[in-house]
Amino acid sequence: MTHKPLTMMENQNVPHLVLIPPPFHGHMTPMLQLATILHSKGFSITIAHTHFNSPNPSNYPNFNFLPFFDGLSDTQITSKNFIDIASTLSTNCVTPLKETLIHHMAKLEKLDEKIACIIYDGFFHFIDSLTKELKLPSIVFRTTSATNFLTYHVCAHLQTKGYLPLQDSKSLDLVPELELLRFKDLPIFGLTNPHDFLHSTSKTLSITPLAVIFNTVDGLEDSSLNDLQHLYNVNLFPIGPLHMIANEFDNISILREKDNCISWLNNKPRKSVLYVSLGSIASWEEKELTEMACGLVKSRQNFLWVIRPETVTDVSAWLESLSEDVKLGVVERGCVVKWAPQSEVLAHEAVGGFWSHCGWNSTLESLCEGVPIICQPYFGDQRVNARLLSHVWKVGLEWCNVMERNEIEKVVRRLMVNQEGEVLRKRAIELKHEIRLSLSGSSCDALDGLVKFILSLEGSKL
Ligand code: UDP
Repeated sequence: MTHKPLTMMENQNVPHLVLIPPPFHGHMTPMLQLATILHSKGFSITIAHTHFNSPNPSNYPNFNFLPFFDGLSDTQITSKNFIDIASTLSTNCVTPLKETLIHHMAKLEKLDEKIACIIYDGFFHFIDSLTKELKLPSIVFRTTSATNFLTYHVCAHLQTKGYLPLQDSKSLDLVPELELLRFKDLPIFGLTNPHDFLHSTSKTLSITPLAVIFNTVDGLEDSSLNDLQHLYNVNLFPIGPLHMIANEFDNISILREKDNCISWLNNKPRKSVLYVSLGSIASWEEKELTEMACGLVKSRQNFLWVIRPETVTDVSAWLESLSEDVKLGVVERGCVVKWAPQSEVLAHEAVGGFWSHCGWNSTLESLCEGVPIICQPYFGDQRVNARLLSHVWKVGLEWCNVMERNEIEKVVRRLMVNQEGEVLRKRAIELKHEIRLSLSGSSCDALDGLVKFILSLEGSKL
């Protein structure tokens, strides 16, 4: 590994970075990982964040934190309506964030210092005009795959040609501009309102940062990165997987593990456990969870199953309501937890498969540990990632998504028992080695390039 903490020379200005993540776990965690890596390169780090889902400063003693008002109501917060929260934030946060940044700049100015660069999550597209107004250099950080970001361009193009929105969200036709995807894989489908998606996409595409950082690996997405490079006349920095690079310096997650599932895994044979976690945003009806429980038990495989507290009102009561034989099966073969230390779980030798919603962080974490996946995407970029996993990288099983016990039993056995699963597992292990090589190869070079780029904005040296 070549990422070494740099030591500041005396009397040198430490370049100040302000990083701005949205308050969602899948966005916040990679931003904090990026912050950890940039801190190790000698930058001073400030995290500007909403009050809602704020990170705990005591977990990050090296960073400064600047909370800003988000104006979310208690009803919105408890509703867990991601789309509604996102749209409220992009209206409510503009003025509070601007005032917070102005105040921070004034504080630095008194010390004869300034912000070298703002790094913000592209989800907060309103920050583009804000940084221009404040004359601050800015870089966008994209927490989805490069291919997913490319689909925004493709969707905008298809819309101008009159192809979108499409009525047929199941179309298997290949997308002419991006043939690795079918129409049904585009992130526009699975949303309640495709027009909102197209509107927010056009805002995202209108922003003009100085550079874009991706949490990805060049070798995984070289074709999409090349296409993006042609579309954008700015530097693209594919620096991933961030959780692997950041792990060299710190072990971070905004949520901490409470349930001890690792000791349960320790007592299971090699590659015998299916890890089941379908994301921190999708929610479930109890009858779907019951089908999952029945299907998992019928498959006769061991399983570690994360059921997020917000996906079912009372997990214990629901478990109690299962029929006696299923309950017995869950106790014999399963371990049900509210939260698991996912990277550690995927790295555990007892884990032989992952049933996932294919969020980008989960996708990268699984690829890095060589664990094949049952792909069950719901919306947004998850569909794109599922297609990459199953069709391009060939480490995932595309699944029909019907929460029915016999279907679940079949797919679990396909991955965990059948020859088909063995082939995917072999390919996953090859890919794991390729990704790990990139840590000291392309991703390391991209990180060095990013550091130089930021320093060239500031004019100061580390
Ligand atoms: N995660 C975890 N433990 C759990 C469930 C999720 O650590 O029990 C982490 C997971 O490792 C990943 C993140 O939460 O880093 C989920 O991000 P992802 O992009 O996969 O999905 P999202 O939840 O944003 O849809």
